[in-house]
Amino acid sequence: MQAISKVSSAASLFRCSTKLTSQPCVSQLSLRKGLASGVMKLFSSPLKTMFDAGRSVHVSRFCSTSNIPSSLQIELVPCLADNYAYILHDEETGTVGVVDPSEAVPVMNALKQNGQNLTYILNTHHHYDHTGGNLELKDKYGAKVVGSALDRKRIPGIDIALNDGDKWEFAGHEVHVMETPGHTLGHISFYFPGARAVFTGDTLFSLSCGKLFEGTPEQMLASLQRIVALPDDTSIYCGHEYTLSNSKFALSVEPTNEVLQSYAAYVAELRGKKLPTIPTTVKMEKACNPFLRTGNMDIRRALGIQETADEAEALGVIRRAKDGFKS
Ligand SMILES: [Zn+2]
Repeated sequence: MQAISKVSSAASLFRCSTKLTSQPCVSQLSLRKGLASGVMKLFSSPLKTMFDAGRSVHVSRFCSTSNIPSSLQIELVPCLADNYAYILHDEETGTVGVVDPSEAVPVMNALKQNGQNLTYILNTHHHYDHTGGNLELKDKYGAKVVGSALDRKRIPGIDIALNDGDKWEFAGHEVHVMETPGHTLGHISFYFPGARAVFTGDTLFSLSCGKLFEGTPEQMLASLQRIVALPDDTSIYCGHEYTLSNSKFALSVEPTNEVLQSYAAYVAELRGKKLPTIPTTVKMEKACNPFLRTGNMDIRRALGIQETADEAEALGVIRRAKDGFKS
């Protein structure tokens, strides 16, 4: 077991609770286990149960796994080149769902390995790299596809169409449906308040946001603000592993942000070991993500954004700069 090298004191803001500073956090333990088995698991169940109490390992990391007791397990399944699908498992009922299956095979392999069936497929938006596995998984397991009512015609196999503000239930876990347009107009995010987890698809990434394919900067700004209005310790599960390249852009526009410097170094270390950087947290993103820092004067100066520009206008400029950024 390798210890992760130390990060600066600023980064300590984002570690797990104090109990965890001398022990590997849940996601890290799970990731190591997952690497061996080809599937990476992240648990939001009570943290203590996941620790080897007799082991003392110094690990300083940004643990973004929720500390809220919940019977919901979240398993990260890498798909395609840089997508993540997430398997949801309610330990009490055995109910299983998957968020954004880009492709069926990696999800089927994970389910087979776990001896699980599949009841629900949750889609954040209609893009193929989030729904590509829908029909094959639905055919094999008889799972119900859950997505935005606005994208009823664009989500393959949709059975349950949800609207903004709907409260859906996954095996007794309340799920809040949040419309988060900007990347696409029908994009939604799924918030599980009991597990302090939100699935943000291609709206909010760690250190960035999705490209504005259909929506406006105003819509994206409002969507991002909705997500980061959730509690600081909310774990954010996004659709792609883009954090390393995002960190290079973020540092280019706000090089003096010490928390960002620490996080970027940590992200580089994780990716150097081919470990995921997801989940991130609301707290981390508010401190480091340039798209959530549209009022920051250093970022505005770096990109020539007027002091008088409103936040949506600033977000539009930051987005265009990111689109043209070569890392
Ligand atoms: Zn997309």
